[in-house]
Amino acid sequence: MRNVQVMAHWFCGDCDVEGRDVAAEPTCWNCGGAVTVTARPTIPADHPPADGAA
Ligand SMILES: [Zn+2]
Repeated sequence: MRNVQVMAHWFCGDCDVEGRDVAAEPTCWNCGGAVTVTARPTIPADHPPADGAA
């Protein structure tokens, strides 16, 4: 079983900015409004959170 995450690539037409967010429903970092998701590729989670190994 592989560890993968979904990285949303989005674009905000109001601000003309784009970004990436590991969230199901990303919001614009500039205006905080809804954004248009342009791509939703899965990325391998190569570094899973340490399990209390600190
Ligand atoms: Zn915006």
